[in-house]
Amino acid sequence: MASTSASRHILDTALDAVGNTPLIRLDKIAAQEGLRCNLLGKVEFTSAGGSVKDRIAKAMVLAAEKEGKLIPGKSIVIEPTSGNTGIGLAMACAIKVNNQLRYRLQVLNTIDKGYSVIITMPNKMSLEKEALLRALGAEVVRTPTEAAWDAPESHIGVAKKLQREIPYGIILDQYGNPNNPLAHEYTTGPEIIEAVVGTPSTNAKPSSGKVDVFVAGAGTGGTITGVSRALKKTHNRECIVVGADPIGSVLAKPEQLNVTDSGSIYVVEGIGYDFIPDVLSQDSADIDSWVKTCDSESFAAVQRLMLHEGLLVGGSSGSSLSGALKWLKSEEGRKVADTTGLNVVVLLPDGIRNYMSKSWFLDMTLHAEPRPLAGIISQVLSPA
Ligand code: PMP
Repeated sequence: MASTSASRHILDTALDAVGNTPLIRLDKIAAQEGLRCNLLGKVEFTSAGGSVKDRIAKAMVLAAEKEGKLIPGKSIVIEPTSGNTGIGLAMACAIKVNNQLRYRLQVLNTIDKGYSVIITMPNKMSLEKEALLRALGAEVVRTPTEAAWDAPESHIGVAKKLQREIPYGIILDQYGNPNNPLAHEYTTGPEIIEAVVGTPSTNAKPSSGKVDVFVAGAGTGGTITGVSRALKKTHNRECIVVGADPIGSVLAKPEQLNVTDSGSIYVVEGIGYDFIPDVLSQDSADIDSWVKTCDSESFAAVQRLMLHEGLLVGGSSGSSLSGALKWLKSEEGRKVADTTGLNVVVLLPDGIRNYMSKSWFLDMTLHAEPRPLAGIISQVLSPA
């Protein structure tokens, strides 16, 4: 079996196991949908901290260290997040310092002085994320889900208050930090391009040799913005980039798409906002088109990815897939869907292990009926 480059070397720290994620064919779902194009999933749960957000956490911490903004033993990293950026930051801060700095600090004998982490996170985010954050040594402050982003009690407002009051508190700020989209422009995008370009077209598996469509949800918008820039600048100017945005969020364009009478609360975690983050590109050349998604379609898509492709992905991965399938049914999308060999890449940001206690997951697994094999099992095992 082919090994990834990471598995052929001893890595210095878990930060070296961030990214380098696989691009996997979603052939069964493509066949069920009658697609002629290739449907490919960029599977981010294999990253060390379990999500696409490890990449930006690593980039933001390394950049802040380089700029001298983090002081080992003193700095307290505070970040408002839906959880995954927090997990990446807590992981990076647990590892403490990059290796060059580690060497210098070893010389200075300060090796064990790392950075503390406080994460502010809305109540709706899963218990699993909070437990992982605490496992990595972070402190977690929960905030009301319904608080507007600019309210003092929101996860952003509380983080700012903590930073104002706590000496050496620093917010790396995923919503405005240019290293967020840059991490994707430099890693996620090039990995996708390398995998597609490096896979030859064959009769059994025809390929255009290019990334023709890229679909992702947006939270901060760093992923879709950075990957789009990598794809359009360095690979295929004609690549179509599609954003998936939950009903109740305001990130989609044109703005009429966001009009809803069903309120702003949805269950899917990590995507959608009630404000436009600075790192989400407002250049219509970067994001060509948006589709709105809903919880039920997203969770049904998660179930399909698990049952038919064996991919243990989280809720927002279902949003990416259901958004992609919706777009492929649009007028523009149908031309792609009907063309053999075109490559449609769908970003799958994290894994189901972040959501195992959520009722939507329990309903589709432990509480699900019918269970086709239950009858034969009880027949075999029940006393005659
Ligand atoms: N899915 C999940 C599960 C996430 O945690 C995030 C990050 N909030 C996203 C999607 C969206 O990523 P981005 O912030 O880069 O838009």
